[in-house]
Amino acid sequence: MSSGVAARHDAKKLVRSPSGLRMVPEHRAFGSPFGLEEPQWVPDKECPRCMQCDAKFDFITRKHHCRRCGKCFCDRCCSQKVPLRRMCFVDPVRQCAECALVSHREAEFYDRQLKVLLSGATFTVTFGNSEKSETMVCRLSNNQRCLILDGDSHCEIEVAHISTVQVLTEGFAPGGGNARATGMFLQYTVPGTEGEAQLKLTAGEDANTSRRQATAWLVAMHKVPWVWADGLRAQRRAGFSQRRTCQSSAFGRHRAWRSWVRGWVCFLVFIFDHPAGRQAPL
Ligand SMILES: [Zn+2]
Ligand SMILES: [Zn+2]
Repeated sequence: MSSGVAARHDAKKLVRSPSGLRMVPEHRAFGSPFGLEEPQWVPDKECPRCMQCDAKFDFITRKHHCRRCGKCFCDRCCSQKVPLRRMCFVDPVRQCAECALVSHREAEFYDRQLKVLLSGATFTVTFGNSEKSETMVCRLSNNQRCLILDGDSHCEIEVAHISTVQVLTEGFAPGGGNARATGMFLQYTVPGTEGEAQLKLTAGEDANTSRRQATAWLVAMHKVPWVWADGLRAQRRAGFSQRRTCQSSAFGRHRAWRSWVRGWVCFLVFIFDHPAGRQAPL
C-alpha cells in the first residue's frame, strides 16, 4: 500500500448516532485496530428498573443508556460524561461507573502514548537476519493501522499483523523500574507469504534529542494495549501467545534471585558458625 493510498484512507466523516456525534473513517475497512463498535442499547421495554441500583423508572427517575455498554441506568448511576475515543465520539459521553473507569484508563493511551507514536522517531532498522541496517523514521500511521518506516526504502507493517513486541533494554531493573529502552524486536506476518518476518529497531547511541525521542517512542510502543488490536485478539483465539518479554530484565531478575539466595546462605553460615550468632535470638 503506497503512502498516497494510505493518506486517502485517513479521510473521516462526521456521523450522528443516538449516542452523540462521531468522527468515523470514511472507509469502514480502514478504521483503527483499537476501535470499538457502538453497543446495541438494551430496549426500553426490557428494563423497567436501573440495572445498577434497581430504582424503578418513572416520570421523575428517568432512564439513561450507557454509551459504552448499552445498559439502562438511572441518572445517579450513569451521570459521568467521559471521552470515548475508541468509539470515535467527538465529545465526552454518558457512561455507567464501571465503563467510565475503563474509559478514563484508556484516555491515558490516547492523551500520551498515541501522540508519541504518531509523531515518530529515528532508529537504526535491521530486517530479518540481514547484515545491513538502515536509518529510518518509524511512526504509527494517522489511522493507527500501520507502522510506517521511511528511509532510503519504505515499509509498512499492519498493526493487526504484529504478533510479537519485545522491548530490548539495558541496565539492571528489578520490576522493570530503571531499565533503559534501547530497541525493539518485532515479529509480524506479511499477507501472501508463509511464516513470520522480523525486524529490529535500535535507538541511536548519542544523548541528543533524537535519542530521547526514540526512547519515548519505544516506551509508548511498550505501553500500547495490544489486546485492543483486532488481529491480535483473533490470533489469541486461534491459540497464539503474545510474548512481551524483556530480555535484560529477565536476566536482571535471575541475577537478583541468585544474590538473594547467596545472601541467605551467608546469613545462615554466620548464625551457625559464629559464637555470637548462635546466641542471638532470631
Ligand atoms: Zn441507579
Ligand atoms: Zn456501561
